[in-house]
Amino acid sequence: MIGYEKILEELHRQSALQPARAPMFALYCDLLAAQARVQVHPREYAGIAQIAPPRVERGLPVLPPEAFRADCAALARLSDEICAITARHRADLRDALDATRVWLAQERAAILAHAIEYLQDGAFARAQAAGLDQALLAFVFNHALHPFLRTYAQVLSPFVDVSIWFRTTCPVCGGAPDFAALSKDSGARILLCARCDFEWAFWRGTCPFCENDDPDQQKYFASDDEVYRLYTCAKCGRYIKTIDLRQVADERILPVERILTIPLDLAAREVGAAPLPANPTADG
Ligand SMILES: [Zn+2]
Ligand SMILES: [Zn+2]
Repeated sequence: MIGYEKILEELHRQSALQPARAPMFALYCDLLAAQARVQVHPREYAGIAQIAPPRVERGLPVLPPEAFRADCAALARLSDEICAITARHRADLRDALDATRVWLAQERAAILAHAIEYLQDGAFARAQAAGLDQALLAFVFNHALHPFLRTYAQVLSPFVDVSIWFRTTCPVCGGAPDFAALSKDSGARILLCARCDFEWAFWRGTCPFCENDDPDQQKYFASDDEVYRLYTCAKCGRYIKTIDLRQVADERILPVERILTIPLDLAAREVGAAPLPANPTADG
């Protein structure tokens, strides 16, 4: 798995090449830099690795949500930092982020339980009761859990047989994809996990969210240069941004591409496709 250093380097390079979009990318440069600073020590993975192959065979992600562990102090610190960074870039979200920070500080002792709840069903029951913005909290947790889940993906990937998976969710952490690629050699579809950056193969003519495969309901819009595609599903109303690697000569880094294509998220809303419920891009 490609390291944060390379991801950041490429994002900075692209920001310099696209000055008009640099302010849009700046939030993500800061979020990635904060994630890169977290030292994650792989531990307690041996037991999970052992149960990985039978879980994959049964269609279950390798990491059972309740088995997720992280340095709670580091997770709490990063969650707070994600709020502070986002508030700096998005004045419109400042009040909601302040409320989120206060709640996270109160819930500090229960942060692991909240992370597990998020991994289980993307929801936060106690936060909902407290009147917090659920989508914003999902954004914060998605970014705060990223370095920890990436390490799981890195350590556990040798135990995942992607050739038997072909499901809509990530075989490592059970997350949904938020980006896709058509591979350089065959044009086969690869999905990128929004939570842990793991990549896995999936059918091209099937919606990666609701599994609808009616060709009349699966459409895509291509960019003028044919490098990017926006696949939309008429049944569930969701979309997946995609890069066609057959159209580019150089190497591309998918976690960078998901950020470079934020303008496509805006275009998707214009064509009436709904974003993912826990869409990790915070641009409105
Ligand atoms: Zn994942
Ligand atoms: Zn669908």
